[in-house]
Amino acid sequence: MKNIRNFCIIAHIDHGKSTLADRLLEFTHTIQVTSGQMLDNMDLEKERGITIKSHAIQMEYTYQGEKYILNLIDTPGHVDFSYEVSRSIAACEGALLIVDASQGVQAQTISNLYMAIEHDLEIIPVINKCDMASANPEEVEDEIVELLGCKREEVIRASGKTGMGVEEILAAVIERIPHPEGDEDAPLQALIFDSVFNSFRGIIAYFKIENGIIRKGDKVKFFNTGKEYDADEVGVLKMDMVPRNELRTGDVGYIISGIKTSKEVKVGDTITHIARPCDKAIAGFEEVKPMVFAGVYPIEAEDFEDLRASLEKLQLNDASLTFQPESSLALGFGFRCGFLGLLHMEIVQERLDREFDMNVITTVPNVSYNIYDKQGNMKEVHNPGGMPDPTLIDHIEEPYIKASIITTTDYIGPIMTLCLGKRGELLKQEYISGNRVEIYYNMPLGEIVIDFYDKLKSISKGYASFDYQPNGFRTSKLVKLDILLNGEPVDALSTLTHIDNAYDMGRRMCEKLKELIPRQQFEIAIQAAIGAKIIARETIKAVRKDVTAKCYGGDVSRKRKLLEKQKRGKKRMKQIGNVEVPQKAFLAVLKLD
Ligand code: GDP
Ligand code: MG
Repeated sequence: MKNIRNFCIIAHIDHGKSTLADRLLEFTHTIQVTSGQMLDNMDLEKERGITIKSHAIQMEYTYQGEKYILNLIDTPGHVDFSYEVSRSIAACEGALLIVDASQGVQAQTISNLYMAIEHDLEIIPVINKCDMASANPEEVEDEIVELLGCKREEVIRASGKTGMGVEEILAAVIERIPHPEGDEDAPLQALIFDSVFNSFRGIIAYFKIENGIIRKGDKVKFFNTGKEYDADEVGVLKMDMVPRNELRTGDVGYIISGIKTSKEVKVGDTITHIARPCDKAIAGFEEVKPMVFAGVYPIEAEDFEDLRASLEKLQLNDASLTFQPESSLALGFGFRCGFLGLLHMEIVQERLDREFDMNVITTVPNVSYNIYDKQGNMKEVHNPGGMPDPTLIDHIEEPYIKASIITTTDYIGPIMTLCLGKRGELLKQEYISGNRVEIYYNMPLGEIVIDFYDKLKSISKGYASFDYQPNGFRTSKLVKLDILLNGEPVDALSTLTHIDNAYDMGRRMCEKLKELIPRQQFEIAIQAAIGAKIIARETIKAVRKDVTAKCYGGDVSRKRKLLEKQKRGKKRMKQIGNVEVPQKAFLAVLKLD
């Protein structure tokens, strides 16, 4: 135990965690020097340059003549995955806090730091990307000293690109981070901080032992799920899995035990022995709840079962994805999926397309509402279409968040206007350093899922970072805004919105849909309604679309090509009544100006 150090790297997205982690692995000869990042091994991770799942890896390093085992846990930096970050943090005694030398402290730098402080981790501040011409390490050092209350000498300057500072970081890990503690003779208590699905080995759970010893072949159980398993294989994580006969207190490792689905492995759960169980689970276990919901529908009705099979497979290694069948008058049979956040939703959509070749239509995302009837019963509704009749509703509650935005003083004005338009209430405003400021808002989550990120990015020219935490539910005056095409309500286009914004939103929806729905051979009326009351209307004029008229002479093959092209074009359309509606129309509400 004395020569073990368990640490993680925390940072705002893109500040260079994965790159720096690769340099540490190279320096300790854990991996060979190659190009590209080693820790992000999912294709999608490489392309997007973000770490979606946390990974753990063991390094060996000799320092002042003594051999040390360093377990590095790489964490995802995006808000949607902050639960995984917090579990990774719980498995460590220390953290490298990476801050980009040109960007300075950002929203997730602070939220991750708070999590690390809550878990009493020793923090080693590192200014990364010092090789860049735009680097401003002096000013960033001021910010860090201010934030942590540490000494200037404690801040390490580094570069994941050139390898500057890597040796100094390893020395700091050994000297400043305490070794794990615990009792080897006590009953087994191991924290599960992650799990992966491997197509050859099944589900693999990663854990850190807080107390006791685990041996190959042991009979174990997962405390919170109550499920029992044989420890078929246990081992440590290097670039590959390395089996061991036993792992002891303080060790980080993996277990393979015939776990069938990722649902059985709950990140944050405790592994113990069946024969001599620990008397309580490791604290801090919480079920992650999806925050954002959207309908996912196959374009071709006959692909419904394929879509179900694909979602089931995705769920095998993404336990936070939920789905249940639903049907829409407009879109037919599909699923209502629950996601941790918007990025998570985008990733699932992209994986459906890439890994399963599933062509789907997704509806506008929404949050979960608590609907109270006149008798005081509460029902959770995840879909505006599932709203009970308004006359039966007593009141509706919607989820709120506490948002933190870090920006420079130049953009405070426009950001405050944006937040106000999203029903935000300013909580406080604090200067971080020089002209950089952190603003806190209380806001409805439903307003964020719509187009907040994009707007924030564009009005701040990228100089604003954003993070949020759930902050309870509140009663709000919400109404269901329906959209009708030629008099038929299209359930997939309904949204719940605050009554004060409903008229404006109805008008803008109609205008946007007029732009997005192509002219057809008859006139199309687009209407917005609240209950029976029409509040806005636009009309799409008829057109006679005769593509073959463009063909001269009797060029049959050209004619056929055009017809085929038109047919393919139709594939991305959905027939609603007699109107053909393109996918982008279902997301119109995200694109309102
Ligand atoms: P993460 O999101 O924190 O894991 O960040 P990555 O390690 O994926 O790095 C984000 C981007 O910054 C990538 O394009 C890296 O190549 C680049 N990068 C990372 N570290 C450095 C560095 O020290 N210097 C320079 N110039 N670029 C870096
Ligand atoms: Mg990364």
